[in-house]
Amino acid sequence: MSAVLSFFLPGGMLFLASLALVHVPSVRDSLGDIAGIYPYAAYLFSVVFGWRFNRSALVFGTVSIALAHWCLVRFAQVPPGTDLYWRVAFLSTAVLLPLNLLGLAVFKERGIFTPRGLSRLVVILSQPVLVGIVAGRDPLRYVALLEKDLLPYAFLQGLPVPQIPAAVFLFCLIAAAGLYLRNRGAKESGFFWTVCAVFAAFVSSPDQDQEAFLLATASFVLLVSIIEVSHAMAFRDELTGLPARRALREELLKLGSEYCLAMIDIDHFKKFNDRHGHDVGDQVLRMVAARLGRVTGGGKAFRYGGEEFTVIFPGRYADDALDHLETLRREVAMSQFVIRSPMRPKRRPKKPGRRKAPPRRVSVTVSIGAAWPDGRTETPDDVLKSADKALYRAKKQGRNRVTT
Ligand code: GH3
Ligand code: MG
Ligand code: MG
Repeated sequence: MSAVLSFFLPGGMLFLASLALVHVPSVRDSLGDIAGIYPYAAYLFSVVFGWRFNRSALVFGTVSIALAHWCLVRFAQVPPGTDLYWRVAFLSTAVLLPLNLLGLAVFKERGIFTPRGLSRLVVILSQPVLVGIVAGRDPLRYVALLEKDLLPYAFLQGLPVPQIPAAVFLFCLIAAAGLYLRNRGAKESGFFWTVCAVFAAFVSSPDQDQEAFLLATASFVLLVSIIEVSHAMAFRDELTGLPARRALREELLKLGSEYCLAMIDIDHFKKFNDRHGHDVGDQVLRMVAARLGRVTGGGKAFRYGGEEFTVIFPGRYADDALDHLETLRREVAMSQFVIRSPMRPKRRPKKPGRRKAPPRRVSVTVSIGAAWPDGRTETPDDVLKSADKALYRAKKQGRNRVTT
């Protein structure tokens, strides 16, 4: 999946769909009913899921959103015309909520009921108290301070939220996008779209129903992105990024009667590890996996385990698939993998001096055993066993070859 698409799916789609939904006449008319249920359901599911899957970012992100929501509703109920406290709540949550979300996106997972997890919870829950103490002394001045214009330009006066909260949102969105560019994870893209939904909620304020709908969407987007993270943890191999054994099991069940399976094993990898070290072994494993991931002919690569991989060609005739496997074998054998030295300086030295270590280039070969169903009775598991036998023969015959 392209990087743009994986950034957009599913958070961006959910966010834009929700934004469009609140403008559909029939939905807009019944928004009051939806807003009475949807936020509670979204917050409840998110917190329960986050707790059961031990994803503190989801739990604390949802607590932050729900708390902000509660503050907005709580202070919107004062008699009309005395909306000073509502403005305090609005401005404070508009500044603090995106920052809280960004913090949760940046910090690593440290559990929920752990000292670090609980201290994050304390930081979140103490914010309304602190705001109450600070703003309580002189709410008028507090509001005036947060509504101050940073820049005097006329076109900035018409912003849907005052300039300071708008700047905070912009900063958080850029930072979340930057995090995504660095890690390419569902968590980072989820937080980006969650902040977008929160921003949309603040823009739609003081329409309480729209606000509730969009805040609930913010929590829902976070929930779905964390489900994606959990799915990736179960189905993707952490070291190589290829689909893992569990994904292979599922893929085997989907195969029709025409396909080709290949087992691929790196040659003499134990010796390679002994000579270059386990870390270099890991790097090479990743690079070989990247090559396998780009297999041609509609093949799909999986990490079977250790230094063994499986490639499936669904709906392929054997000789067709064999050509692609042969290309794959040749490509791996001809590749020179450049090894990062652990002593490499973080910044490129200004002058190419003596300190520059020569890049280490290593190469490996792979043996491949291929098989396909012979008649209708053979299951994919039988075919996988045949491919394994073929691989064993490839090793016996001298390695670096494709055998059927
Ligand atoms: P052959 O050509 O017969 O396949 O020889 P081999 O040494 O590759 O075979 P064997 O299966 O006995 O050894 C596999 C080695 O792969 C053992 C282990 O050191 C290495 N290995 C397995 N998984 C990993 C891993 O995740 N990282 C690293 N660095 N090495 C691994
Ligand atoms: Mg092996
Ligand atoms: Mg091997």
